[in-house]
Amino acid sequence: MARRTKIYEGKAKILYEGPEPGTIVQYFKDDATAFNAEKKDVIEGKGVLNNLLSEYFMKGLNQIGVPTHFMKRLNMREQLVRQVEIVPLEVIVRNYAAGTMSKRLGIEEGTQLPRPIVEYCYKDDKLGDPLVTEEHIAAFGWASQQDMEDILSLALRVNDFISGVMFGVGIKLVDFKIEIGRIYDGDFQRLIVADEISPDSCRLWDIETGQKLDKDVFRRDLGSLTDAYTEVAKRLGVMPKTSTPITKPTLIN
Ligand code: 5GP
Repeated sequence: MARRTKIYEGKAKILYEGPEPGTIVQYFKDDATAFNAEKKDVIEGKGVLNNLLSEYFMKGLNQIGVPTHFMKRLNMREQLVRQVEIVPLEVIVRNYAAGTMSKRLGIEEGTQLPRPIVEYCYKDDKLGDPLVTEEHIAAFGWASQQDMEDILSLALRVNDFISGVMFGVGIKLVDFKIEIGRIYDGDFQRLIVADEISPDSCRLWDIETGQKLDKDVFRRDLGSLTDAYTEVAKRLGVMPKTSTPITKPTLIN
């Protein structure tokens, strides 16, 4: 069997050269990391769940006209995506205070914000993805003024869509992070949603109980991460309601 060309290996995913020029195979690993990889573990089934959930969100976004890199799911751990040039920013949208915003500004976790707040972090693991302003972004040429308008519009549309979908299944979208990719169509360039959208990159709280159904379960040792992600997948109909949490035999693909 021909060996695939690995393009990049990150903390939670591996990217391989795709079958056609301009395509990439995105493989979801079971590795979980937090606090800039200071905390690490392998959580059986996490990759499968994130592959299915990211497919669900990205497909939904494509269907409502928010462009994403997602093309199709290939198997339980892999999806075919468009090759993009990643804008070196983590775009964070917050609806409720939590995490670093609560720490930084002393706002109690769970406090509803007056409106969605968008933050930008410079993607650099060695620096711990520092928060930056639009001044830094413009001055260092990471994105143009037009890009920033497009990124803000994409981020808010993703927020509206995912907030609505999650609300429909009794889950509050507290905050999330997306990454943006640049694609070229002839002389034109466009920005699209890239990377992944999953409970690894969102904060999801049960509306009734406040139970955390996202990566904070791992970051804060709150129980089983696969149980939490499986609950999200079941509520969205991505996994049958009767299925048990994913275990090894499911992972053949
Ligand atoms: P915070 O800044 O509070 O740590 O994170 C805000 C939101 O962005 C959370 O939903 C968190 O999961 C997500 N986020 C921030 N940085 C990263 C990152 O480096 N990787 C992932 N997967 N999510 C992140």
